[in-house]
Amino acid sequence: MSCEHLACARCGGPVSEGRCPACRAARAEMHHGHPNYTPHILIASALLIVLVALLAIHGSL
Ligand SMILES: [Zn+2]
Repeated sequence: MSCEHLACARCGGPVSEGRCPACRAARAEMHHGHPNYTPHILIASALLIVLVALLAIHGSL
């Protein structure tokens, strides 16, 4: 997926031009990604799974 054809919801300009911080953040995220972005999502997902499992266990008792 490329950001070349995306329009920014904040400034209305092409994200690829990086006119505002939202553009630059979206562009950087798509092109390079944040080093801690994926691990953070994985950790959040793991915590959510544990939470759901705990709720399921308590719900079954
Ligand atoms: Zn923008």
